[in-house]
Amino acid sequence: MNFTTPFRNQELIRTLLSQINKLKLRPIKIMEVCGGHTMAIRKHGLHQLLPSEIELLSGPGCPVCVTEQTFVDKAIAYAQLPKTTLLTYGDLVRVPGCYQSLSEARSAGASVEVIYSTQQALSLARKQPNHRFVFAAIGFETTAPGTALALQQASVEKLNNFLVYCAHKTMPEAMEALVADGLPIDGYLGPGHVCSITGSKLFDRLVARYSIPLVISGFEAVDLLQSVFLLTQMILQNESGIQIQYRRLVSPDGNRKAQSILNEVFEPCTATWRGLGAIPHSGLKIRNTYAQWDAEVMLPVSVHSLPDPKGCLCGEILKGIRKPTECAHFGKKCTPEHPVGACMVSSEGTCQAYYSYQQTE
Ligand code: SF4
Repeated sequence: MNFTTPFRNQELIRTLLSQINKLKLRPIKIMEVCGGHTMAIRKHGLHQLLPSEIELLSGPGCPVCVTEQTFVDKAIAYAQLPKTTLLTYGDLVRVPGCYQSLSEARSAGASVEVIYSTQQALSLARKQPNHRFVFAAIGFETTAPGTALALQQASVEKLNNFLVYCAHKTMPEAMEALVADGLPIDGYLGPGHVCSITGSKLFDRLVARYSIPLVISGFEAVDLLQSVFLLTQMILQNESGIQIQYRRLVSPDGNRKAQSILNEVFEPCTATWRGLGAIPHSGLKIRNTYAQWDAEVMLPVSVHSLPDPKGCLCGEILKGIRKPTECAHFGKKCTPEHPVGACMVSSEGTCQAYYSYQQTE
């Protein structure tokens, strides 16, 4: 059985579009803050099917894209240490740092290995006790529990050759920062996967503080159109609040076990986001009780940072104020094969989404 088929049903899609078109529309801006949503919208061409009054903006929802250049530089510094291997998920390997990417550093002799889970990282550390493994941990509330669990296991097993270089981030503070900056966002499409862990309550403060509507959406065409319909209704009626469209995975309370692991291992900290700068309480820092496995505590490295690549608009794109097609490098100097900026690297990056589905422009 294909579980996605009902959520791509053409009849339902037509009905939802007709319902949206019947609303008394005015120009509105809706921002999605999940790279999975950005990709799905472009892949299904939903932005073209919607009436012109509804503009979809892509926000800071791609974990690789929001990771600052110096994080890559420090990861490279770890990979160049003797008897040390830098472990990371695939997309990060190709993100340009200030000087080179992890992939380029690997070609020059640095020890970099792509892994698919934190359990694989632990397994490597167990098998080679005389070698050090540093896991470069990025991502939002969706991937952070896996890192937290690995830290707990390393602690229980006293696995002292495993370290985490942590740059996990949390979504609500970045979304608040965009609204506080005065960006014209009428409503948010909430990140479905993040909320499967955190629950919809994650956004209570954002909605209360800024009186903004938010609909937590699934990832198929029917999910997204239904979410746009619900959100547009709320915007037109000047309603704030949270609705959950993605009910098959998201509840108000989320996954309490995962939340408890996160709270035990991490504490909030100020994090620097590419394009958005430093945002208080938007990062996850490894607590002192796990400092023995914190790469920044046990193995500090320093790098000299440089400005973002000339002409790259990633910072503005992540805020939703520019579109990839406005960048002079788009599709010329910058392609998924030869990315200039992070937004073209990741399969969830806005520039790559625009590039991959240009026929839907
Ligand atoms: S097209 Fe490339 S250079 Fe331009 S903003 Fe996107 S990632 Fe940066």
